Amino acid sequence: MNSTLLGIGMTSRRTRERMAKRLLEQGIRNNKVLDVMSRTPRHIFVDEALSSRAYEDTALPIGFNQTISQPYTVAKMTELLLEFGRPGKVLEIGTGCGYQTAILAQLVDHVYTVERILPLHKKAKDHLWSLRLKNISYLHSDGGWGWPEHAPYDGILVAAAPSEIPEMLLEQMAVGGVMIIPIGRGDRQELQRVFRTENGYEIEELEPVTFVPFLAGRE
Ligand code: SAH
Repeated sequence: MNSTLLGIGMTSRRTRERMAKRLLEQGIRNNKVLDVMSRTPRHIFVDEALSSRAYEDTALPIGFNQTISQPYTVAKMTELLLEFGRPGKVLEIGTGCGYQTAILAQLVDHVYTVERILPLHKKAKDHLWSLRLKNISYLHSDGGWGWPEHAPYDGILVAAAPSEIPEMLLEQMAVGGVMIIPIGRGDRQELQRVFRTENGYEIEELEPVTFVPFLAGRE
């Protein structure tokens, strides 16, 4: 890896390991998730002016009124997705800067990621190529439609909050599949986990969360 990817000082490996230790203290238990997060450079996904803050447990701006999810949220959603086994195909809605995509790509077979804002979609691709992550397919689209061509998915992870679960995403889940999704408006949002069974869907209500809104159309 070159020095930009490895990081120095506030973007160094030691800073990343401190972040992983904090995640453990916050209740993240999946060692594979902790290991991947301690190895993946997060600072390359944010503007250089913010790179010294990349490992703080906070959401940071990535432009276009969007934010990179805070490390705890990325870790928690990934852990919830993986709890009952390693999913093969995962659909991610809301690529953003691509950090969550990078974590997922190291833990599942293939990630299909959808982003509605064109410049973010393009930038994320560049970041993820620089990490040489190749098991990712990218789509610039409204994620409310999912990505039907590659369905069904063993896992779906949604990084923006709709007021209810989009019908198309439910349809694109495999039987035995899991979806992690924040539901609600403004500061009244809740993380939910949906299981698709032989007979239908089961919804588990988890913790309160704050995500940017899930918006229709693309720009
Ligand atoms: N996991 C990302 C989070 C980015 S914020 C990261 O760590 O960077 C959520 C993203 O969801 C934003 O980029 C936003 O543009 C996108 N988004 C919101 N509604 C969407 C939709 N309907 N389809 C696709 N992307 C959407």
